[in-house]
Amino acid sequence: MKVVHIDTTVVGTPWRELTFVELVTDDGLRGVGEARMVSKTDTLLACVGELGERYVLGMDPFNVEQLAWSTKWHEYGRMGEVGATALGLFDTACYDLMGQALGEPVWRLLGGQVRTEVPAYANGWYQGDRSPDSLRTLAANVVKRGYRGLKIDPFGAGSTGLTPRELRVSEDIVSAIREAVGPDVSLMIEMHGRFTPAAAVRVAEMLAPFNPEWIEEPIPPYNPRGLRRVRQATSLPIATGERVHILADFAPLFEEGLVDIVQADLTHFGGFTGLRKLAGWAEAYDILLAPHNVCGPIGTAANVHFAVATSNYMTLEHFNDFADPWLSEIVEGSPAVDATTGSFGLPTGPGLGVRLNHEAAARHPRTRAHFNLFADGWELRGGKAVRTSALKS
Ligand SMILES: [Mg+2]
Repeated sequence: MKVVHIDTTVVGTPWRELTFVELVTDDGLRGVGEARMVSKTDTLLACVGELGERYVLGMDPFNVEQLAWSTKWHEYGRMGEVGATALGLFDTACYDLMGQALGEPVWRLLGGQVRTEVPAYANGWYQGDRSPDSLRTLAANVVKRGYRGLKIDPFGAGSTGLTPRELRVSEDIVSAIREAVGPDVSLMIEMHGRFTPAAAVRVAEMLAPFNPEWIEEPIPPYNPRGLRRVRQATSLPIATGERVHILADFAPLFEEGLVDIVQADLTHFGGFTGLRKLAGWAEAYDILLAPHNVCGPIGTAANVHFAVATSNYMTLEHFNDFADPWLSEIVEGSPAVDATTGSFGLPTGPGLGVRLNHEAAARHPRTRAHFNLFADGWELRGGKAVRTSALKS
């Protein structure tokens, strides 16, 4: 079996573009991978074209280690966000092909089953007024939907620090959400690397009484020395890693004990091949993985397969029940969170078990979305505020 053709498809939503790469083999199989590149879809497509021609056309899709090796060494330039994403697209599609060729779900090729379901937590649910009342209602709705965890960045467009007023507003929002969901639902606090180390410490002190599951990216991802300061000042678990793209860059985080939950994104970390190596390394430090996931149904399915087969896995991020829920219609076999368990079930079909429906995808052309987390109103994700009064009934 060898790859003879590469197809790319981009689906647009108001705040993200989702890139799908399909590898077609000489025996007629079609394997698919998905990634959401933050605001650089054209750059990703160019990289897919270059690397695809050089390494993927003509390859046996079982040789994923060779593909990862080639893109690391033969490219010479360092692997970054775009390169690791292109590799992730190819690697995911290769695993889909392997599974289809063998008639086995991908998790069977990753070590087999270690869990029967994959816990999920909700993101993108807060598309309403940035007020305690509005968010209280929206948060209660997430729990009603069956989720046992939810995440929010309550800090508006804050950067470097918060004014006393902004800190108080953020505190009121977190307090309202905790009150709405009760003490037994996991509440993750996203910081998007907004703060200086000193500001992050102050914010962590404010958050502690609300017992967050973790604080996420308290400072920008390039500054382990700053993270050390945050670590020393708070007992709250620290999650980070969505903007780390190669194994070696996790060294200071692991070796200095600066991370409790690793959030490397399967689709920005070279796919299954890259993330499996990271999971093995993290296990030596008793660190759990909660991968970043802003994908539609195919990238989410890939994450579910990975989670089924990975022992030190914690929970999977999921947007698509609250942001762009129509995305389930662009595929056949969309993974879904079971409202009775708050988890994804066990995939049973061969490969990823999800196929791109080209006709449905074509109904959602590119939007050239630029998602700016430092602009007022970013939490609406390009849409209009949800009218919470409509949710109360
Ligand atoms: Mg994040």
